[in-house]
Amino acid sequence: MKKNLVVVGYGGMGGWHADHALKSDVVELLGIYDIKPERSALARERGIFAYDSLDAPLADDRVDIITVAVPNDSHIDIVLRALEAGKNVICEKPVAMDSRELEEMISAAEKSGRIFSVHQNRRFDVDFLAMKQIKESGELGDIINIESRIHGSRGIPSDWRGEKKHGGGMVLDWGVHLIDQLLQIFDEKIERVNCVFDHITNQEVDDGFKLNIYFEGGKSAYIEVGTYNFIAMPRFYMRAQKGSAIITDWRENCRVTKCKYWHESEVIPVETAAGLTKTMAPRDFVTVDEYQLDRPSSDVHDYYRNFCAAIDGTATQLVTHAEMRRVMKVMEACFESDRLKQTINVEL
Ligand code: NAD
Repeated sequence: MKKNLVVVGYGGMGGWHADHALKSDVVELLGIYDIKPERSALARERGIFAYDSLDAPLADDRVDIITVAVPNDSHIDIVLRALEAGKNVICEKPVAMDSRELEEMISAAEKSGRIFSVHQNRRFDVDFLAMKQIKESGELGDIINIESRIHGSRGIPSDWRGEKKHGGGMVLDWGVHLIDQLLQIFDEKIERVNCVFDHITNQEVDDGFKLNIYFEGGKSAYIEVGTYNFIAMPRFYMRAQKGSAIITDWRENCRVTKCKYWHESEVIPVETAAGLTKTMAPRDFVTVDEYQLDRPSSDVHDYYRNFCAAIDGTATQLVTHAEMRRVMKVMEACFESDRLKQTINVEL
């Protein structure tokens, strides 16, 4: 039987959740609640029931799931009230402003015995899934380093995302996705974090950042978000023991170059102004194989399918509390690293 859903916050992302629910095979949209009357009016125009207060869906016994899609600083209040009312809760990312808030939410979830998770929907992005597939298939051997970048050229949005008090900034907005993805690929312990923020169009919050994560054993990840990049760098770049992989753009397939023979009998040198170089000359097709990966299949609606199965006790929730804690701690280390202008030692 479908679970009854109410979406709190009917803005950009709340609209997505509501639309999704209307097509879903596992949830039924009972309605929305938004603090702004004009958003409620819009929902009604679209034939969606709009509650007049937050108390109303919380007191409605039919409601199984509350999805929280309001600005980041308002997550905690709604999450705690919904859990206390006995509802299962999906919270938009970043789940909380800091670890203190997150711990309060997790304690409330444990006390209520309800399912509580965060909507890390970018676990369904096919570019990320291609990188994960290379790791899991072992086709390039051990991974040395992954670079994950998102580059835009329109600055930070001019809404609450540009204000610190609402939990604005790119670490909390995009960083949370990219860190979560990388930690799905690397399972080694994190030893150090170094992060430098950009302030190009916004002085109050980070409108971009450059983050290095160093893992036990020497592997590392580099994550970069930019909002002032009129030429975007590749979405993903991987170096591994047996080759390299690149995804230049969201819309492109993953290209892999796999080393067949480490030793080359002949290298055609590249001529540069300073002279010839063999060391840095590209490899030929005798020693490497080049191919493209098929796009991995993915269905973002599996997020709700998993959440409903977790309520029924037939699956473990996709995004666990431990994963939520780890991502939050990395983001906190980013803030500390930028503030102190130094690398932060962690044990995560
Ligand atoms: P938005 O500004 O478009 O919409 C927020 C809505 O919440 C507004 O309609 C506002 O009136 C309403 N609201 C504010 N406070 C409220 C309250 N106390 N009670 C009820 N309604 C309230 O913002 P958005 O872009 O939809 O972002 C909302 C959340 O979704 C944020 O946490 C954001 O990080 C997240 N988000 C996630 C993704 C994703 O891909 N997972 C994408 C975009 C946004």
